Amino acid sequence: METRDPSNRLNPMKAAVLLNRAPIETNPLVYTDVPIPDPRNNEILIRVHACGVCRTDLHVIEGELPVLKQPVIPGHQVVGVVEKGGTKFKPGARVGVPWLHSTDGTCEYCRTGRENLCEAATFTGHTVDGGYAEYIVAREDFVYRIPDGFDDLAAAPLLCAGIIGFRCLRLAGLNPGDTLGLYGFGAAAHVAIQVAKYWNIKVLAFTRDERHQKLALELGASFAGGGNAESPEKLNAAILFAPAGELVPAALRNMKRGGTVVLGGIHMSPIPQMPYDLIYWERSIRSVANNTRKDGEDFLDLAAKIPIHTQTQTYRLEDANAALNALKNDAIRGAAVLVP
Ligand SMILES: [Zn+2]
Ligand SMILES: [Zn+2]
Repeated sequence: METRDPSNRLNPMKAAVLLNRAPIETNPLVYTDVPIPDPRNNEILIRVHACGVCRTDLHVIEGELPVLKQPVIPGHQVVGVVEKGGTKFKPGARVGVPWLHSTDGTCEYCRTGRENLCEAATFTGHTVDGGYAEYIVAREDFVYRIPDGFDDLAAAPLLCAGIIGFRCLRLAGLNPGDTLGLYGFGAAAHVAIQVAKYWNIKVLAFTRDERHQKLALELGASFAGGGNAESPEKLNAAILFAPAGELVPAALRNMKRGGTVVLGGIHMSPIPQMPYDLIYWERSIRSVANNTRKDGEDFLDLAAKIPIHTQTQTYRLEDANAALNALKNDAIRGAAVLVP
């Protein structure tokens, strides 16, 4: 691992490091000592209190995304306190580090309020080291203040699952009284349903796992069935959080005319060939890529106001492989969170 301050070799930190991409069943994360990173210019050093586990981490680890840094420390839903660096936060301030680590601020996307599409963006736990560690550095202008109402564990899943789910909801074009299908009911959906219900939207859940169906009903879904289930009523929009391409035609079959299917993941298995009439009547399919800082700020404000209750399963940092295996096997109720 790169070190910028040789003295830090005397003062290492623990981290769960990915040396080589491999299936999570082989437990590829290595719990080891690495140097504490040093903040440069506009960066801050943060002591990690909690780091949420996201399906994108699984895609990074298993090699479904391009290798941008190796070895790399995954993790991009980081809650911690500022130790030093930068000018925006005092030491001790509680902040959250999300997936979007930086953008260039100058390209056509950044200049038009679409920094989530920036071609020079870098990503926490992918392009740069993330939060499966005792410390992380982050750009001070890309971290969020964590609202007081959330403890560290409860706040962690808000930082990607929550924000991405919120952006998916925004892009779904819903109005009060509409019906929404959520496909996959993990960390993102268990937050999104709370926002949707706050907006007076009726939510139906489609997920293969019975435990996830049960959670959806507990959180107020009017229906819970399998991924291929026929919806008891037609949907205005659907959000696919599960990375399974075969759910696209399954969701389209349940859509009203003019409905939108939003794909919330960074990776998905191939979408099967399907007849044109599934998408005719102005139905649309659109993906969601990352989020803007404004999405994050708007969502955290709203999350505090509703307020959102996240359900978390805590794992020790050294058990990061176990947490990710559980995620892959649909065995997490709500969100998994690592604690150093
Ligand atoms: Zn840009
Ligand atoms: Zn994520």
